[in-house]
Amino acid sequence: MLYVISSHIGNLGDITLRALEILKKCNYILCEDTRRSRILLDHFGIQKPLKSFHKFSEKKEEKGILEDLREGVEIGLLSDAGTPTIADPGRELIVKVIEEGLPFTALPGPCSLIQGLVLSGFPSERFQFLGFLSKKESEGLKVLRSMLFFNGTSICYVPPNRLVSTLEYLYQLSPVANIGVARELTKIHEECVRGIPSQLITHFKNNPPKGEIVLLVEKGKIEEEEIPLDELLPLLQESFSLSLKEAIKMAAKLLGKPKKIIYNKTHERIHKV
Ligand code: SAM
Repeated sequence: MLYVISSHIGNLGDITLRALEILKKCNYILCEDTRRSRILLDHFGIQKPLKSFHKFSEKKEEKGILEDLREGVEIGLLSDAGTPTIADPGRELIVKVIEEGLPFTALPGPCSLIQGLVLSGFPSERFQFLGFLSKKESEGLKVLRSMLFFNGTSICYVPPNRLVSTLEYLYQLSPVANIGVARELTKIHEECVRGIPSQLITHFKNNPPKGEIVLLVEKGKIEEEEIPLDELLPLLQESFSLSLKEAIKMAAKLLGKPKKIIYNKTHERIHKV
């Protein structure tokens, strides 16, 4: 049996009783970083063989793990923080396990994106998670824009050295967007700051951010002047694979304008070209 085990995102006390029980009965444990998992296991007096299982070794280890599972070996899977497969290795193995009909289950526990969402107080009925913000400026910008258009809360991971520049981009795109920065969750210096980009830029310029960060953007309305239609429509089409008609419908919702007005403006523009 494969156990995909959510552990902790900083505070060792957040691991569940069930996770500890399962870890104790595993024959071995796959770890993103054996040194980090050893700290957790030592803390709870669990001594088990640990095997390295990170994004570079995932493929290589797969065959042996599947063979062990076929023979009934009990295997735990831990990542360095929180829930495996969430911006962490494990999904490819799970796909193989499903394909082969081998037994596996997942143990629930902390996950930083959910923790950030709860602490932000932003709407949680509908949200999207975008992983790590791309290092490439143009891709990162595209993602930030799609966050501002999303009809719900958007969540991504940002390294501390890129937080202020990311907030500056958000300021340029929508100075009135409501942003949340959840930092060092469950740890001593936990903080969750909310506000418009300019407020957060000031805060983090005065208090340079350290540690781990979840960035959240609350659903917001964009003003047409901020992004002209001839940029908005192609962006919506590309980001959400929409036809022009569907993009017009979405733009109307985002801009809070009747569909007909957007449609007429688009037509005028197309005829001018
Ligand atoms: N699988 C993890 C989870 O379930 O939270 C996420 C792993 S991802 C490789 C690491 C990123 O998650 C960090 O760079 C940070 O953006 C976010 N993160 C992890 N722990 C965090 C914490 N305690 N506070 C804020 N963000 C955290």
